[in-house]
Amino acid sequence: MATNRSRTPGRHFLQIPGPSPLPDRILRAMDMPIIDHRGPEFARLARRVLDGIKTIFKTRNPVVIYPSSGTGAWEAALVNTLSPGDRVLMYETGQFGTLWKNMALKLGLDPIFIESDWRTGADAKAIEAKLREDKAHKIKAVAVLHNETSTGCVSHPAEIRKAIDAAGHPALLLVDTISSLASMDYRHDEWGVDVTVGGAQKGLMLPPGVSFNAVSDKALAAAKSAKLAKSFWSWEEMIATNKNNYFPYTPATNILYGLAESIDMLHEEGLDNVFARHDRLAEATRRAVRAWGLEILCREPKHYSSTITAILMPDGHNADRFRDVALDNFNISYGMGLGKIAGKVFRIGHLGDTNDATIIGALAATEMALAIAGVPHKKGGVQAAMDYLIAETGKAAKAAG
Ligand SMILES: *Cc1c(COP(=O)(O)O)cnc(C)c1O
Repeated sequence: MATNRSRTPGRHFLQIPGPSPLPDRILRAMDMPIIDHRGPEFARLARRVLDGIKTIFKTRNPVVIYPSSGTGAWEAALVNTLSPGDRVLMYETGQFGTLWKNMALKLGLDPIFIESDWRTGADAKAIEAKLREDKAHKIKAVAVLHNETSTGCVSHPAEIRKAIDAAGHPALLLVDTISSLASMDYRHDEWGVDVTVGGAQKGLMLPPGVSFNAVSDKALAAAKSAKLAKSFWSWEEMIATNKNNYFPYTPATNILYGLAESIDMLHEEGLDNVFARHDRLAEATRRAVRAWGLEILCREPKHYSSTITAILMPDGHNADRFRDVALDNFNISYGMGLGKIAGKVFRIGHLGDTNDATIIGALAATEMALAIAGVPHKKGGVQAAMDYLIAETGKAAKAAG
């Protein structure tokens, strides 16, 4: 146990699904003096990030960058496009879906919540059915999470767009991609998303403190008549000021240096390679979990997340106690169970600046902690993950000649 120890050697294994580990390269890029955010050096930085971030969201339209955590960008998506009392179709994929719905309520919107058991993603067919019932087009927006971070289940925005179109419904499509952007394939324009909500501290490998709204032309048009009160979150002034390479109020200058570096790093690796790496690390993790004889919370492979895997504890074993044992003995942190699955799951984040060796280290710590905590399981999870990675890496090495 960690008694009599004032220092824990080695790197902490930060396996929470965001904030994710900060690469040294990004830390160095942010190690800059504060500059005048109305001066010429800032204008160059602003242009770089405002143009660069579009390549990550895959959009040709503006991306608004806020100095806030992701929750702020959730609010911005709602207040810029909607009016008091507007009906919004939302989905109970898990804790984050629930929080976004609660925010809509607090803002004076009228959310319709499609309930689910927190073990799957949004069902496009259920969304289509609700929209078909809404003959008067009272629903103004459909809001879903690309990746539900509390459960490790993804939803498929392109399918949901098809469902909206199939119903012949004019609702806007709002998508939260806070824990999937820059880790899993995402295409704002091609998928017909109207507002995409993003955050800094997950796939973009930045410290918390910056968030995003990518917007479509239809969203910009809706913003012209949207009546919810807004000031700090208003797109209008942001987009107008951004055109001249500035911000209407103080931006998170030093995080923007980090953002410029993050965008460069993602393109140096290649976005498709980044996505494939996340798919591979997620599959290795799931193979370990199955070999341990434990259960993955997400029920259907179609909805598996590539950034986080939530693992159910066997009956009678508390996930928070297991997390304590793992932290005390192996210097590793997992995501805790949130909301109605508190104490029942722990979540392994495998996103951002992570590679085969770091995930194997994390899985080895997990297997040791399961043993020390007395959680019933089978040995061999790490071996199963290694066998998978050896096969995949072998294939890649062969393909590269
Ligand atoms: C982390 C997260 C949020 C909340 O973001 P904050 O930066 O904590 O405000 C919202 N949605 C999803 C899917 C997230 O993963």
